[in-house]
Amino acid sequence: MKNSVIVSGGFGFLGSHLVDEYLKQGYQVVAVDNFCTGSRANQDEFKKEIAEDRLKAVEADVSQSWTPWLNSIQNLAPVKYIFHFASPASPPHYQKLGLETLAVNSVGLGHALAAADEHKARVVFASTSEIYGDPSVSPQPETYWGNVNSFGVRSCYDEAKRFGEALIYTHNLKHNTHHGLVRIFNTYGPRMNPADGRVIINLLMQAEKREPLTIYGNGEQTRSFCYVDDLIAGIIGYAQSHWTTPMNLGNDHEFSINQLAETIQSIYPDRQLEVRHLPLPQDDPQQRKPDLTLAREHLTPWTPKIQLREGLLKMRACL
Ligand code: UDP
Repeated sequence: MKNSVIVSGGFGFLGSHLVDEYLKQGYQVVAVDNFCTGSRANQDEFKKEIAEDRLKAVEADVSQSWTPWLNSIQNLAPVKYIFHFASPASPPHYQKLGLETLAVNSVGLGHALAAADEHKARVVFASTSEIYGDPSVSPQPETYWGNVNSFGVRSCYDEAKRFGEALIYTHNLKHNTHHGLVRIFNTYGPRMNPADGRVIINLLMQAEKREPLTIYGNGEQTRSFCYVDDLIAGIIGYAQSHWTTPMNLGNDHEFSINQLAETIQSIYPDRQLEVRHLPLPQDDPQQRKPDLTLAREHLTPWTPKIQLREGLLKMRACL
């Protein structure tokens, strides 16, 4: 067995794909989750690896001390990376779990950093495009400081992630460490929680059930959607690098929500899907598109490869 990797939020959407990838690479993996948005069904997919003790599944709230569960793990191989990916991430979930969201990206990240320093491991923190808020610059480069409402329905998420970035910056400065963070743009793929509320899983589930596609507002707001495999490849590349400053990861092909709905219609040629317009949620960003120059230059040969229609077909096959 080589080193181990700890993934907080290991049975959530992105966390479970990181678990998959590091198991494939022969690492011992520790997945920690309290299932507030992670899923038991995701854990069940790893029954074999858990039985073989290649994957250790820990049920814990990572906003509480890590010492009890971390010290109780038998035969833990030297820890190479800690991915701090535990957090509600969809607007309906983080709005319902606002205090938990604030805690896990601040206190929880503090525990991850302390554990990493003790084990001489590197933390990679899941930051987000939400730190740019409703951007007045497009595409968004890492140097853009953002346009964020600190006192509104999205602020528990946006500001928690911004605090997390500041914590990593300051921790590295004070302790001469090399922890890092990636700014993750909208990502989709298998294992998204069907009740998640984010646009792609919502529209796909509606199309499956022949229900009207819900479009919030006039549908002219834009997002850039990354297939999960491309994102995971970028995260792994970043972890391996010595990069400690923020790096955008995602796909830079920008679509309006209306175009997304048309693309979903195109993969269901056997049915005519209606559209239902609902009110635009408060503080909903009008546009979002990553500037990926940094990732393309420094994680060579990384670039997102899977375009929207192909990714939607792959995701549909797993529903
Ligand atoms: N959206 C929509 N219909 C839905 C869910 C979301 O039109 O059923 C819109 C939402 O208002 C936003 C965009 O799709 O403009 C992306 O929303 P999502 O919740 O996926 O993520 P966000 O990028 O806002 O965090």
